[in-house]
Amino acid sequence: MEPVVAQSVRYAETCQDCGADLECCGVQVLAHGCVQWDVGASCTACGFAIAVCFGDIPSERRAQLLAEHGAATLRVIGPSAKKRVVIMRVLRAELGIDLVSAKAALGSVLNGDHSGTLPEMELLARKLRASGIAAEAARP
Ligand SMILES: [Zn+2]
Repeated sequence: MEPVVAQSVRYAETCQDCGADLECCGVQVLAHGCVQWDVGASCTACGFAIAVCFGDIPSERRAQLLAEHGAATLRVIGPSAKKRVVIMRVLRAELGIDLVSAKAALGSVLNGDHSGTLPEMELLARKLRASGIAAEAARP
């Protein structure tokens, strides 16, 4: 089993029950071959508490993750960079993109500028390694 990779951010929202500040903690987790976004929140005023799992990460929380933890970069190492078709196939499947976008993504991966959150890049690196490509997620 590969280790779990997780990054978290804290933020405040408004409690839907009493209007006080809700303390929220969002965690982006890579586990069991997928990246998920889990949120736990509790209100200090009324005790309202919620936990939401398996959601999509909102873009503002993703931006916060990148700002607080830095961006990770996906790298393909050595002769694996020549296996362009295999890399593109993995990128298309994992990112859900078309062929034209996959070609652009391939270019940025090979240039070392394909970046994102650490759990996202680690997932891509693992999927690439599973297809025989030497890849790693470089931590910020
Ligand atoms: Zn409340």
